[in-house]
Order: sequence, then structure tokens, then C-alpha cells
Amino acid sequence: MNLQWMRAWQVAMEAVTLAARATRAVQAELITSDTLEKKDRSPVTVADFASQAVVCEALAGWFPNDPVVAEEDADALRESANAVLRDAVVRHVQTAQPRAAAASQRQVLSWIDHGNMLEPNAQRSPARFWTLDPIDGTKGFLRGGQYAIALGLVENGKVVLGALACPSLAHPGGRHPGTLLMAARDEGTWMYPLPSPAQGDALPARVDGLDDPAQARFCESVESGHSDQDQSAQIAGRLGITADPVRMDSQAKYAAVARGDASIYLRLPTRADYREAIWDHAAGAIVIEEAGGRVTDIVGAPLDFSRGKRLERNRGVVATNGAVHDAVIKAIQN
Ligand code: AMP
Ligand code: MG
Repeated sequence: MNLQWMRAWQVAMEAVTLAARATRAVQAELITSDTLEKKDRSPVTVADFASQAVVCEALAGWFPNDPVVAEEDADALRESANAVLRDAVVRHVQTAQPRAAAASQRQVLSWIDHGNMLEPNAQRSPARFWTLDPIDGTKGFLRGGQYAIALGLVENGKVVLGALACPSLAHPGGRHPGTLLMAARDEGTWMYPLPSPAQGDALPARVDGLDDPAQARFCESVESGHSDQDQSAQIAGRLGITADPVRMDSQAKYAAVARGDASIYLRLPTRADYREAIWDHAAGAIVIEEAGGRVTDIVGAPLDFSRGKRLERNRGVVATNGAVHDAVIKAIQN
């Protein structure tokens, strides 16, 4: 691994691990006042903001010249009506990240805004940048299901490194409640235990070797608004799949395919005009590819991360173990 990536690997790994510490702490004391409604009506919690602050603190410190494209911004937190929420965010950041133990409110808000350095409507992305979903699967987080902290490094439109922390996805072996998946281009995908990823505990992740689509298990969103579940049932029928879909929130679905728990992840557009957000897929995509699988859109085109905040050139996502990929794309076209 080149030195630049090795440093990126270490920084990303530490950052999402500390962010996961913050999200777990919030979850432990989750109360309704910690939730406010975003414009798109999805719940945003103290944990989203704290997670973004913790990850951006690390990126700003170690890679000050790298732009960061993250999901949240601190505008809502600056409103006086949200003072209680803001105090909770600051407290959780101070507790999760030892370097931030004495951080001011202003400093914490500026870390959150470090994730918004790109023009909102930029159509071309920088040659190198990070993209972060501080909590992917907010609904899963709130209902005690799966969620992820997802950080990807993109170079020239391709993801080259991914850190996917899944605090509620048990580590293989069952002794640890969470799994951190780390992947870098041509370096494979590695699973570390959470909450404490010890270097010696890394296990390689590999997709399953299944090549008969009829035997496949597929996963999809819990939310029917995020992926067309009627269409996925039809496609499963065409492939001869009889097993029920595994429904999970967040990029934990990518983790499930990367480690062979499922062979297929389908994300089928529910609206013609929806474009997937880059932070919903960057970390997950490289985690599957480096585990031996394949990730494309629904027509089989590679995901293009060079077009701003959204995958403007792609529709939906199909991720598989590789062996069944062409059959799945064909079934979607039929
Ligand atoms: P999931 O947990 O797989 O259901 O995905 C959660 C993500 O879905 C959120 O982070 C949103 O960015 C994204 N999302 C919101 N609306 C849509 C939509 N209409 N189609 C696909 N994804 C969406
Ligand atoms: Mg998300």
C-alpha cells in the first residue's frame, strides 16, 4: 500500500471508530428531544452531528487540503431553539474524541461545517476528496436496528478506500457487538471488531462462491420508499429465488454481501428523478469490490463518483458476489 493510503487507512479507521463510540453513547441515552426533523423529514439526531464532528476533526487535522463531502451541516444547530441539542452534540464530541476534550462549541460546529466545503451544486468533483455519511440508516439507528458510519476516499471518480463502521453488526465469532470493515484498492477488505478494533483481530472478508442465482439470498432496504420492493420481488421470481429478502437499514447491506451473509443487494429506484447520494454508497461499494464482488447501477454501468454530491450518471445500485451479477442485471432488464 502506498504511504499516502496507509496514513489514510489509519486516520479513517480511528475516526470512524471514535465516531461509533459517540453514536453508541447517544443511543444509550436516546430520548425524543434528541431528534429533530430535517427538511426531507428524516430524523437527524445528536449522533449524526457528533459523528460528523468527530470524523471531520480527524480529516481536518491530518488532511487539511482534502475536501470533505458529508451529509450534514451545522446550520440547524446554530439556531437558538436548538441549544439543548447543540450542548448534547458538544458533550458527546468531547467525550468520544480525547483530542476534543476541551473543544469549544464554536470549534465543534466548525468541524461539522468542514464537511461542506464543496459548492452545493458542483457538477464536477475534486480529483481527490472524502465523502462521509455520519449515520447512514438513521431510521435503523432510531429503531435499534442496523446503521453505519460510512467514510470513503475518492480519487479521480473512483473509491480507493472505505471505512464502514457497523456498530450493531456482530463481528464473526460473535464475541463483539459490531464490525468495522476496512477496504483499500487492491488490498482486500478486512473486518475488525467494534467497539475496539485491535489490529491483531482483523479477519479477511470474502463474498460467497455461489453461482446459481436461484440459491441466492438478497437484501434490500427496510424502507419501501428507498428501493422498489415490489419490483425486487418480481426480479427474485425471475431468478428462481425462493428465500425471503433480508431487509436491513444502511450500508450494513454492503457488509452482508462482502462477508457472504447474502449474495445480492438490490436498490431499485422508486422515483425516476432520484439520484443516489455518493455518501450512501462510496464506502460500501469498495468494501464489496475488495471482498471479490461487483457493484454497478441497474443497467450494469460502473458507479461514477466524479459528478458532485449525487451519482448523476447512475440509476439505482446492484451489488453482488460477482458470480451472479450478469444474471441479476439481465433479470432487471427483462
Ligand atoms: P437505507 O438504509 O438503505 O434505506 O438507505 C438510507 C438512505 O436512503 C438515506 O441515507 C438516504 O440518503 C437515502 N434515500 C432517501 N430517499 C431515497 C430514495 N427515494 N431512494 C433511495 N434512497 C433514498
Ligand atoms: Mg445515508
